Amino acid sequence: MHRQVGIDNLNNTQEWDVVVIGGGATGLGVALDAATRGFSTLLLEAKDFAKGTSSRSTKLVHGGVRYLAQGDVALVREALRERGRLAQNAPHLFKTQPFIIPGEKWWTAPYYTFGLWLYDRLSGKLSIGHTRHLSRAEARKRLSGVKDEKLKAGVCYYDGQFDDTRLAITLAQSIVDHGGTVLNYFPVVGLEKNDKGQICGVRADDALGGSSFLIKAKAVINATGVFANNIIAMDEPQAKPRIVPAQGIHLVLDRDFLPGGDALMVPKTSDGRVLFAVPWHDKLVVGTTDTLVEKAEYEPKPLEQEIQFILDTAKDYLKRAPTREDVRSVFAGLRPLAAPKDEGKSTKEVSRSHRVEVTESKLVHIFGGKWTTYRQMAEDTVDAAIGAGLLPQKACKTTNLRLHGYVENVHLDDTPLALHGSDADAIQALADENPELAKQIHPNLPYIYAQIEWAIEHEVARTLEDVLARRLRFLFLDARAAGEAAQAVAEFMALRLDWDAKRIAKEVADFGVLVEQYTL
Ligand SMILES: Cc1cc2nc3c(=O)[nH]c(=O)nc-3n(C[C@H](O)[C@H](O)[C@H](O)COP(=O)(O)OP(=O)(O)OC[C@H]3O[C@@H](n4cnc5c(N)ncnc54)[C@H](O)[C@@H]3O)c2cc1C
Repeated sequence: MHRQVGIDNLNNTQEWDVVVIGGGATGLGVALDAATRGFSTLLLEAKDFAKGTSSRSTKLVHGGVRYLAQGDVALVREALRERGRLAQNAPHLFKTQPFIIPGEKWWTAPYYTFGLWLYDRLSGKLSIGHTRHLSRAEARKRLSGVKDEKLKAGVCYYDGQFDDTRLAITLAQSIVDHGGTVLNYFPVVGLEKNDKGQICGVRADDALGGSSFLIKAKAVINATGVFANNIIAMDEPQAKPRIVPAQGIHLVLDRDFLPGGDALMVPKTSDGRVLFAVPWHDKLVVGTTDTLVEKAEYEPKPLEQEIQFILDTAKDYLKRAPTREDVRSVFAGLRPLAAPKDEGKSTKEVSRSHRVEVTESKLVHIFGGKWTTYRQMAEDTVDAAIGAGLLPQKACKTTNLRLHGYVENVHLDDTPLALHGSDADAIQALADENPELAKQIHPNLPYIYAQIEWAIEHEVARTLEDVLARRLRFLFLDARAAGEAAQAVAEFMALRLDWDAKRIAKEVADFGVLVEQYTL
């Protein structure tokens, strides 16, 4: 994956079959689906891949226990099927994670055992582990960080865990592997229409190089998540907003707040929400909240009441109550919920399922959904473009498509380089050849300089933030450590990307603003 090759492809292509706007989970999935069907495909991302919501998830590949409780069986079945497919197609980015629901009252454990037995049954042949009732002694032993009074019994069930930005980068690489073109820092600034008023291309800027491009396409797909309303307005300036952003935040703590390999799942917090505490890359991710917000932004701010809600709920369950000083990182994300037809609905009630629409002007929108179902969402979107006559019929190929880096029997977190899949060997070779590259970047996290070298050369990392937030997960795992590593990493990048002292200072200062926001 090389940015200049992408720009050369852009200059050498008269008309693309498919142009996808947006390089989050949704757009990357759509572009991979289109490229593997044999369509010439270009994906344009305004910032960096997964800069939006797709870096800020709870890191679960799940059916959604709460959607089962809401009776949305079709959504749960679809998500569980996709969970199983991701486990098969990208094992290096997937880990089977046991979850335990505490049985606080005499009836809770039997009630949830039945519900989660059904959850497992819905995954059919793609089940990743069977639900089991736990005795009081077993529940207390496995969740030794949880207060005894919360554990009269327990229920253990299984879901998937992943690394969201690493999956995004893997999808981008997979698109390129299959002949597609992806460009980050390439915002779409306008839509082109033909004399019948139909969309026939986009206008986009190279935000790093400064040039502007008019790009022709048979099908243009709007996959911009919470930013979709902006693209809709380029097509229909008077249109009503069709996406409502709902904010969720997570706090990251040290693992010793919940020792052992099990995650805690609280199906009903004091205000009726689900709360997870999940081990992730040797930290603990606790979340999430669900607050309707007015505007879509790239760095949504965690609200004080959200932080307090998570700390209070954690204090209610954990033997050692986390305080603000214990928080290694706080990050907020915006769910791109498809606006309900019934405006009175709360965010919890708005369906998480996706919706594809083709407008009169033949712009294809994909709204809503979740990371887990990105592949199905992509299939439905490209099918809709075919159905609308924008593209010829070609069958979807992604059901069993192995993603970039596929290796058998290697799973997320098996080793520090496992999530690179088959690229891990090349990264290790860089470290073996050059002791400088074998050095750990910061004592708190296992990342080495060879991973940065790789990210610049093969994963189009262009800014300090690309490296410390998304190629490596410093900012999300330990924001203070990210701040401490920033100067050295910027100097390392400067040698490879030809940055002068002024640029180094700017990168460090810009990143410092983020570090501030991600620390409490
Ligand atoms: C708190 C929270 C927790 C979640 N947890 C989970 C979970 O555990 N599991 C799960 O399956 N799902 C989860 N989700 C849902 C999942 O993260 C989202 O559904 C998914 O990431 C949305 O991806 P997207 O591509 O639609 O949006 P985004 O990731 O926001 O991508 C849209 C992209 O479009 C780009 N863009 C915008 N305008 C333009 C333009 N003009 N030109 C070019 N590009 C543009 C943006 O820069 C952005 O990168 C969670 C969501 C939230 C908020």
